[in-house]
Amino acid sequence: MERTLSIIKPDAVERNLSGAILAMIQEAGLTVKAMKMIQLSKKQAEGFYAVHKERPFFDSLTEFMCSGPVVVSILEGDDAIAKYRALMGATNPANAEEGTIRKKYALDIEKNSVHGSDAPETAAFETKYFFNDLEIVG
Ligand code: GDP
Repeated sequence: MERTLSIIKPDAVERNLSGAILAMIQEAGLTVKAMKMIQLSKKQAEGFYAVHKERPFFDSLTEFMCSGPVVVSILEGDDAIAKYRALMGATNPANAEEGTIRKKYALDIEKNSVHGSDAPETAAFETKYFFNDLEIVG
């Protein structure tokens, strides 16, 4: 069993897609172990995406991520990190495969509806960034 962090990004929450995206997640066999809706401050978004701080899109990305509420959750399952990345699809929805969340719902390379951890170390950092032990079931 592995855990990963999911964020339903502001573009998707704003369009009332949280339920549809969570249904896709659960149909893929991933189990929600923790969940909440929050609105990030600019500083919190910058802290979360600190690994991208040298990238040209850092300011735009962090502005977008604090522009409205997000739904953060911890997902658990066999191979949860890779399984959720496959379900999300490519970063740029133009390259995302049919049946993926981003193919279905993403607006563009930045407003791409979902985030998922990309490795065990980032999953550990990201789950701790949003949840303490008391907020995680099981
Ligand atoms: P991910 O792991 O598929 O989410 O992609 P990355 O880790 O490479 O990038 C993190 C997030 O930054 C993406 O999900 C997008 O929201 C955003 N992003 C990535 N590439 C670009 C880009 O070229 N331009 C802009 N504006 N945003 C980007």
